[in-house]
Amino acid sequence: MPPLNPRLLSGGLDRGPRRKSAAEYIEGVLAGNRVILSQAITLTESTRPEDQKLASEVIHSCLPHAGKSLRIGITGIPGVGKSTFIESFGQLLLEKGHRLSVLAIDPSSERSKGSILGDKTRMESLTREENAYIRPSPSGGSPGGVARKTRESIILCEAAGFDRILVETVGVGQGETIVHSMVDFFLLLMLPGAGDELQGMKRGIMEMADGIAITKSDFGNEKRAKIAAADYRRALELFPPADHKWKAQVLLTSAMTSMGLEDVYSLLENFYEFMQGNGHFEKRRKGQAVYWMNEYLGELVRQKILENPESRKYRNELREQVTEGSLSPFEAADMLLRHALEGPED
Ligand code: GDP
Repeated sequence: MPPLNPRLLSGGLDRGPRRKSAAEYIEGVLAGNRVILSQAITLTESTRPEDQKLASEVIHSCLPHAGKSLRIGITGIPGVGKSTFIESFGQLLLEKGHRLSVLAIDPSSERSKGSILGDKTRMESLTREENAYIRPSPSGGSPGGVARKTRESIILCEAAGFDRILVETVGVGQGETIVHSMVDFFLLLMLPGAGDELQGMKRGIMEMADGIAITKSDFGNEKRAKIAAADYRRALELFPPADHKWKAQVLLTSAMTSMGLEDVYSLLENFYEFMQGNGHFEKRRKGQAVYWMNEYLGELVRQKILENPESRKYRNELREQVTEGSLSPFEAADMLLRHALEGPED
């Protein structure tokens, strides 16, 4: 068995090659150099304060060069065919002359063995393409932390000239909402044969979709796929129309035969044009930026408060009273914030 990468064992960046200057990272990213792009993303994922400072500088300088892409979120239950779809659809995007970046998001704190193995073997043909850049999910952390890393990766990829960004959820859980709040188009993949699945489907996730692709509509699945599509179309009709007036479409696809992939491509391009035309493309992005500022602010405040050992101690005391039922959780949060801002009461 080949030995593990010694840089991983020694803690990654710490004892790896010399850190570059901000200017070197920026120049490399803007020149579309994938190796430097990768190093810059690794830098944004580092928890060392000096790396974070350097990363902020790099992000700040890349920001004016970012934004010129269509950001596409891809979600669906494990096994629905996400990575196979991305592999085939990614090839189509490359054929159309796009530069494609695939980012994954996995907010579960414990990464499953499956997803680590998955990262290695997935999308093998895309990884060999010069105009594609595949990045596995940043490991664990809070939803806000994972979101921050992914948003920063998007900025760096765009600054490096990638004009189609696919953000894929790995695993199940909070990922869908996080992805939805950082992409322009939210594509939901569904299996043929709805029925029970439709029942169990979280209404909220379907409501977020800008498009639904029924996967595996091939090899004898065609009839079930058509029935599923009709069911989803009916279900979508029940949602009130959105401000932007875009109507989510349901398409039949097969990553194996490539059936329907051109339709997905056209759908995305139509959406891009439609939303840019009515101003909602920019509006959605601006809304997302403000949303993340607020979300992250909340997280930073919590972190700051709990950095203080006194506050942590006080929280443990309050937690007991909350679990006993002698104190309301909201009052406890108020008290903890006051304690942190003003010090303990006399
Ligand atoms: P993920 O967990 O959502 O990423 O799903 P995968 O892409 O790993 O696919 C799960 C399984 O479905 C694999 O065994 C694939 O070979 C199979 N699969 C994926 N796409 C298709 C398709 O278009 N047609 C058929 N028949 N099988 C597919």
